[in-house]
Parts: sequence; C-alpha cells; structure tokens
Amino acid sequence: MAEAEVEAIEPVTADDETLWRALQEAHVPSLMCALVHLTGDLSILRGDIRPSAEFFGDPQAGITEPQQREIRQKAFDVLREWRDGRRSLAPAPTGEALKEMIDFIVGQPVQGDYVEFLQQELALHGEDPFAPPSFDDVPKERKQAFPVAVIGAGMSGILAAIRLEEAGIPHVVFEKNAGVGGTWFENTYPGCRVDSPNHTYSYSFAPKDWPQHFSAQEVLHQYFDATATVHDVKQRVRFETEVERLVWDESACAWTLHLRRADGSRETFQARAVIAAVGQLNRPRYPEEIDGYGSFAGPAFHSARWQHDVDLTGKRVGVIGTGASAFQFIPRVAEQAKSLTVFQRTPPWMSPTPEYHQAVPEGKHWLLNHVPYYGKWFRFWMFWMTSEGLLSMVSVDPDWDGLPRSVSAANDQLREMLTAYMRELCGGDEELARKVIPQYPPGAKRMLRDDGTYMRALQRDNVELVTDPIRRITPQGIETETGSYEFDVLIYGTGFQASRFLAPMDVIGRGGVEIHAQWSGDPRAYLGITVPNFPNLFMCYGPNTNIVVNGSIIFFSECEVRYILGCLRLLFDRKADALDVKREVHDAYNEQIDAANARMAWGASDVNAWYKNEKGRVTQNWPYTLLEFWQRTRRPNPEDFELIRR
Ligand code: NAP
Repeated sequence: MAEAEVEAIEPVTADDETLWRALQEAHVPSLMCALVHLTGDLSILRGDIRPSAEFFGDPQAGITEPQQREIRQKAFDVLREWRDGRRSLAPAPTGEALKEMIDFIVGQPVQGDYVEFLQQELALHGEDPFAPPSFDDVPKERKQAFPVAVIGAGMSGILAAIRLEEAGIPHVVFEKNAGVGGTWFENTYPGCRVDSPNHTYSYSFAPKDWPQHFSAQEVLHQYFDATATVHDVKQRVRFETEVERLVWDESACAWTLHLRRADGSRETFQARAVIAAVGQLNRPRYPEEIDGYGSFAGPAFHSARWQHDVDLTGKRVGVIGTGASAFQFIPRVAEQAKSLTVFQRTPPWMSPTPEYHQAVPEGKHWLLNHVPYYGKWFRFWMFWMTSEGLLSMVSVDPDWDGLPRSVSAANDQLREMLTAYMRELCGGDEELARKVIPQYPPGAKRMLRDDGTYMRALQRDNVELVTDPIRRITPQGIETETGSYEFDVLIYGTGFQASRFLAPMDVIGRGGVEIHAQWSGDPRAYLGITVPNFPNLFMCYGPNTNIVVNGSIIFFSECEVRYILGCLRLLFDRKADALDVKREVHDAYNEQIDAANARMAWGASDVNAWYKNEKGRVTQNWPYTLLEFWQRTRRPNPEDFELIRR
C-alpha cells in the first residue's frame, strides 16, 4: 500500500532537545494515535495506557504521569527516526483499525451511527467532511440562470459563498457593514474573545494553528477575513448594503431584494434563492423597558457598539448586565475606570477553564505543525470533549425533584462542583458568594469560561456589584430599590434581540404573508432552515439551531450550508423552480423540538435567558446531539417539500 497522505505539516529538523521539550506539552492520547500512523503498530493502544471516559475533563483522561513519560519517551525515539529518515509513515488505518483508534481516544466504544459521523469529522485522508453534492453535471446555463443572494458576510455567509462558488452557482453577498466577519467585525469591546475552544471553532476546511486556546476578537476577525480573501469571497460582497425587504414574486419564482446603501440610495436585486446568514446575536437589545431609559446625560453605549473614543480612564462607569459580553469587558474596564458599578440581575455559572487567557505553548504549536496526524487527532478529541460528552449533564431526569436548582443527579453534581469552584474564588467573602453563585441549574443559561479573572475584578476596591433591582435610569446614573448611583459613562451589556429572527427585514412570502406576522412572536423553522410559505428562503443559524454546551456553532453552519446546497441540487434534479417546506412536516418537527427542549435544563428551568422568547418558549436552542443534526441535514428529503414550477 502507498504511504498514507499526510496533512500539511512541516519536516522535522529540530534537535533532540527541542523535540523532547515539545513532547512534554503533548496531549498523550492524541500522541498515541499519531504513533500508530508513524509505526503501523496498533498494539500501542492495546496495553494498560489508555484514556478513560471516567476522567472526563482531565486533559490526559486519567493517564498517569509515569505512563505519560513512557509514551513521551517512545514518541521521542520514533520521531527521531522519522526526522533522520529511518522511518516512513505506515499505511493509513481504515475500517476496524480506525474504529479501534476512535474508541481508544474517546475512552469508550463508540456505537452505531457515530462511527461514520466521527470518521467524517476526523477527515483523516484529507476529505472534505461537509462537502455539498456536486453540481458538475448541471449545465452551466442552468446554473447561470439561478442567481442566489446571501445576506450577511459573517461566519455563515462567507461559508455559503465559498460553497456556492465551488458549485458554480452565481451569487452576491449583501453585507450591511464595511467588512466581513459579522459578530467578529462588530464586537470590538475590550476583552472580547471566543469561548469555544479555537481548535474546533474553525471551518473544517481551514484549520489554523491558533495562538491561544480561546483567541481574541482581532485574531478571529483576521481568520474570517483571511478565509474570505483566500476564497475570493470579498469580490462578491456588496458592502454597506442593507437588505430592508424581501418579496417573493410568484410568477417569476424569485425573490426581490430591496436594498439600501450607506449613502441612502436604494435599488432592487432579483435572486432565485436567498440564504439569510444574519446570525442570532446581531441586533443589540437596549434595556428600553427600564424607566428613564435614554435619559442618561453622559455617553451610553452597548457592548456590540463600543465607543472607543470614550476614554474610560478615571471615569465613574456603570454597567448593566453580567452575560458573556459583560463578563469579558468588566475586568478590562475595571483596570481603567475610577469606579465601576456592575448591575447584576441573574448571575452566570462559571466553568473553570485555567487556559482561558493562555497562549498555546510553544511545544504544542511544534507538535501540531510537525507530528503527522497529531493535529487531526487533537482536534478530533477536542471536538468530542466539547460536544456530545457534555449533553447528559444538562438533560432532565423526570424522576429528579431538584428543581429549581438542578435537573438530574449529574446536573446536581455539576452544580456542586461549580459552586465549590466559585465559593473558592470568593475567598471567604460570604456576601459576595451569596450574590454570585447561581441558584438555577447549570446549563439553563449560558455558562461562562472562567480562569478567575472576572471574580478578581469584582473584588477590586474600585468595583461594586449591585444586585438590588434597577428602578430607573436618570440623567445622572441609576436608581435601584435602595440606592442611587452617579456615573460619567453607562455601558449596556444587555445582549441581543435574539429571538427576533431576520429582524428588522420585512420578508413577504407566498400570498403576501409577512414572516414575522406568520410567526407571531414565535419563530419556528424546519431544521432551523426553511419556513412554510417562504419558498427558496434558507436560513443559517435560524430558530432552534443554537447550542448551549455541546460543540462549535461553525459545525452547525457547515451542516446547514451542505443541506441548502442539497436543496438547490434537488431543484435542478426535479426541474423545479422553488421548494416550500410542507406545513405538516414543519409542524411535526417543531412539536418534537419543543418536547425535547422541555427535557433540557434550559427548557425545564424558568430562569430568564435569551434562549427563550417573550412567551417563554425556547426558540433558540437545539435540544439534541450534534450527530442528530448532522444526520437530519445530510441531504434534504424530497418528500418534505412542495416543488413549485413556474
Ligand atoms: P446576554 O447573555 O443576553 O446578557 C445580557 C445581560 O444583561 C444579562 O446579564 C441580563 O440579565 C442583563 N440585562 C438585560 N436587560 C436587563 C435589565 N433590564 N436590567 C438588568 N439587567 C438586564 O448577552 P451577552 O452577554 O451579549 O451574550 C449573548 C450571547 O452572545 C452569549 O450567550 C454568547 O452566546 C454570545 N457571546 C459569546 C461570546 C464569546 O464567545 N466569547 C462573547 C459574548 C457573547 P438576565 O440574565 O437577568 O437576563
């Protein structure tokens, strides 16, 4: 058999000392899998040294120090031989051998459908795990007659444009901002960084040697910008062009987009299909419900519209909110401001992540860049660790009576572990502990990555945490039920209008129905992608496609875009002009979703969270596994749709 294909790695030229030093940073289970590639010897995985699922959360998964030393020594010997040309790669493992390696690294036998799913995710042989169907056999003129509009040049919009280009389908991307990157373009507040591990928060086809485990906004923005550049996406983007209105033209079987440019001029554009990639967390939510909102006399701004020209040095600053954004900027503002007063309504759970602000150590970079297949297995392990493995901890046990504090024994155990962690951070300050330790189940709201930075900020002399409910905003500051506070600057860390999907666009579908009127405050879609009465309108990150604890949202976008391209392929195959999801298919699906969300911490708890709409229905979250979404979106089922011909 020919030597296996190796992913893009650099030749090993390092001296023994560098090599040995780098190996000290190795993730041992990934290193063991890489050793199989280098030696062809599966017996490396069959001895006593093995990761165990019991040690979930331990990076070395229960492999002891002496055992780690033994593996590092073995790897050192093998890598020296590889460097010195005395060893070549063994044939790439397939079939049973690959299954054995997957079982090994996740620490338990993987069952049934997972095998194919995980093999694809692993993409060991350089395959494109989310490749949409080929359009090569569709005549060029048919594709040319099918222009597609993509709305938004953020993470999903860039992806859609890349896949449409590969398919040879003409398209234009409309972007309201002056650059690509969406959320990573808009959120520039101090301290902004990704809180999904970066090695999984990246496109499957564009892995990167990330500088930090959780890189900063500038790095993320640069990544999406560079990916768009490499794939020539930008030349197909119309920047500073907002889509205000979409109207379905029944006779043309096409969407008319009403556009407004930054200079106020207007035009229309006709597209046979529309991919709305506008995100869920895009339009700021200002606390307009607070009495006196808008009356504050000084500068006041939202975290996603940070006013960098407002110098906070020596100022008295008030912050409303303690969600993911505020959690990141509060420590930075505290360093600058004379005083900082944080108004907390509901405290967040914090998940201990010691490496949250740390750079990826040099040795790890070296391993990722030089050891064949190490990076593949490491990314795969991260994917597993941060996905399906966590879901059971936030699932409801119907026999458990621990609500409102927990939803199952596993969830309660997690609660106790997190409580102990947070109590320790409070350093014996009972008053602080009482304020910051949540009383709702972990997973009911977004859990925040933490390495102690936030709590250290709260304990500074110039910072005060106020849990008294806000009564009103005044020209001078904020009045609570029992006190009044004066500020120079007010910052809203109050989140986004998450459940107002597609707002503020007007979307007029078949029979003149407007999508928000049809939703009536309760947005729903089939697979989060299609909505009855809105043919050839496809959403990325639509209703019920947000994930709470498991995985990276980029995984979802890749599934969605593959499915959407599958829908376009279906139209070409069936010589149809449009497809409209059947009402009964959509409704039955949504009933399942609602029932499943009720069985998760975020559905069972009545704590307020952006996962729910005003009616209390969970409109944002996907309640199942990643495997389930991957399977359901693999290809469209023609039976789900009414096919429309002009
Ligand atoms: P958020 O999680 O919705 O937090 C909004 C905060 O404002 C909450 O603490 C909320 O309190 C408070 N609030 C809202 N209205 C209020 C009012 N009238 N009075 C008092 N408090 C009020 O928003 P976010 O922090 O911008 O985060 C949104 C999501 O964006 C995150 O969950 C995450 O998915 C994403 N995000 C990710 C990152 C990252 O990856 N690093 C960073 C930032 C954001 P209640 O909790 O009581 O509602």
